[in-house]
Amino acid sequence: MISIRHLSKTFQDPDGSTVTVLKDVNADIEKGEVISIIGPSGTGKSTLLRALNMLEPPTGGEIWFNGENIMAKGYPLDRMRRKMGMVFQGFNLFEHKTVLENVIYAPMELLHFSEAQAKEEAMELLKKVGMVQKADVYPSSLSGGQKQRVAIARSLAMHPEVILFDEPTSALDPTMVGEVLSVIRQLAKDGLTMLIVTHEMRFARDVSTRIFFMNEGIIYEDGTPQQIFGNPVHSATKAFVNRIQKLVYEIDSDEFDYLQIHTGIIRFCIKYNLSDKAEPAYALVKEMLFTHMREYRPMTLRLTHAELSGETSLDFMVEGLTTTPLPAGALEGLRAKTRGVVEEPTARGFRVKLLL
Ligand code: ADP
Ligand code: MG
Repeated sequence: MISIRHLSKTFQDPDGSTVTVLKDVNADIEKGEVISIIGPSGTGKSTLLRALNMLEPPTGGEIWFNGENIMAKGYPLDRMRRKMGMVFQGFNLFEHKTVLENVIYAPMELLHFSEAQAKEEAMELLKKVGMVQKADVYPSSLSGGQKQRVAIARSLAMHPEVILFDEPTSALDPTMVGEVLSVIRQLAKDGLTMLIVTHEMRFARDVSTRIFFMNEGIIYEDGTPQQIFGNPVHSATKAFVNRIQKLVYEIDSDEFDYLQIHTGIIRFCIKYNLSDKAEPAYALVKEMLFTHMREYRPMTLRLTHAELSGETSLDFMVEGLTTTPLPAGALEGLRAKTRGVVEEPTARGFRVKLLL
């Protein structure tokens, strides 16, 4: 369906300096594929999507769409854009139109649907994204997740052959990420061809037929989710997919600000979709700091979360210690409240790790 050949994009700054964001991108995308594009920020993921539908015309290479070179002079871009939908981070709904009016606008304007026909289809699409009950309200009364679901319905209303998603959940409050991802999951099941730039590693692993790991302006690694997440060829891919998020506090004395720690833990858990672990984690922190390990200062408290495996743990590290600081009898209670307790020496001291 889409062939990308030696695609490049160089931006020219006003001062004359240039930056090459896409270096040499090559890919063939078949109908029905669901491709997640992952990679560090600034590596050209958005630029690639914008280049594909010519919002950001490439400076070199070729893009073939259904056998036609869309970069050829005089190619009717509006025709291509009707078949290639795009959903952005920021929804871009018409604020002065209702939800229903947002969805029927383009089919009426561009596909010349009658109002009745456009409305009938729009209601079907709103049902699909769970937004029928909001058909007559204005976007300003919707949550971010609801706006994004309307934006998806609006894109579907054009009967696109492929939809490009640029971080569709990254502007959302974490509690709303799930509802948008589940709509996209359903579209994948329906067989819609999609390219999705996302930071949601587990979603990418579960929903995609293929993953592009972008790095330094190229598709650094292209493979199945099993390969990219389980057995990547390149060390850069491996490092990226196995990233670990951390929250660290140095506890120097008993004067530490436990409210700050409480808020920090809750924010961290919400951000990484671990809300159910927030209160148990804080209860364990309190128990460790005030009871089992109250004599051990300074100590380092670390909450870590590996996004891909989903492993979350609390570490309590004390420098210069050679044996476990846990009093006899504490272990059993902690084991009952966690998925495991690891007591281990480190290079500089000793660590108790509670698996959440
Ligand atoms: P990603 O989506 O992977 O985070 P982007 O494609 O947004 O990366 O951007 C890649 C690089 O291109 C960034 O360094 C960014 O500053 C640069 N860039 C993007 N758009 C422009 C532009 N219009 N002019 C100049 N530089 C740009
Ligand atoms: Mg981007």
